[in-house]
Amino acid sequence: MRHTIVAGNWKMHKTYSETHTLLDELITKLPSGKEVEVIVAPTFTNLASAVAHLEGTNIQVAAQNVHQAEGGAFTGEISAQMLLSVGVETVIIGHSERRHYFNETDAVLADKVNTALRHNMRVIFCIGEELKDRESKQYLNVIFNQLTDGLFHLSKDQWKNIVIAYEPVWAIGTGETASPEQAQEIHAFIRQEIERKYDKNVAENTSILYGGSVKPSNAKEIFSKPDVDGGLIGGAALVADDFIAIIEAAN
Ligand code: PEP
Repeated sequence: MRHTIVAGNWKMHKTYSETHTLLDELITKLPSGKEVEVIVAPTFTNLASAVAHLEGTNIQVAAQNVHQAEGGAFTGEISAQMLLSVGVETVIIGHSERRHYFNETDAVLADKVNTALRHNMRVIFCIGEELKDRESKQYLNVIFNQLTDGLFHLSKDQWKNIVIAYEPVWAIGTGETASPEQAQEIHAFIRQEIERKYDKNVAENTSILYGGSVKPSNAKEIFSKPDVDGGLIGGAALVADDFIAIIEAAN
């Protein structure tokens, strides 16, 4: 069911004690009883303790990555089963930093999605064009190909565990934000392509988040667009007051 989500991607930030300080601030300051689903994605080393710390709150925990194999000789990697064993049921897949710095191809990402879904996890799947794609007016093709290669092999039923995050690469961590109109154009395009591939029901029930330099000052305008169902937040998720202001803007 489509609903509003604000998720914080903490990337490679926050030690164990810093993680708990930020979680405590969120727990204390976050207004209760609101409609927005709140998710935080700390580093792997802090996932288990974050889940324990957030028990009984409305804040959920996601991982930033998962390996596609069930297990085995993959030094340094983490499996879906390991995430589930510490209570993590949501995973971000396909973030542009994973695609860019770790060479995660569309084929690998599709494998990761399959593995996560096989374990009944929820996937926040990131797509987004680079600056050169926007400048050459190829951005819709790039988005379409990422959708097709990463997700369009899934059955209708599997889509109930898919959330999409549209994150233009040129807007991530740069301070540049897509305008609300640019975000709406792409979100509507994504929804239209999901409907074309599946049906209206799947399209209307898929949450599509915007990510890329969302801040308290621009969140409300972006979130007010009809096809924007919340956000995936990087830098601003590391400051409790900013993250809370963004969550409030989504309410
Ligand atoms: C991100 O990395 O997913 C992101 C959106 O980062 P930022 O908000 O810092 O641009």
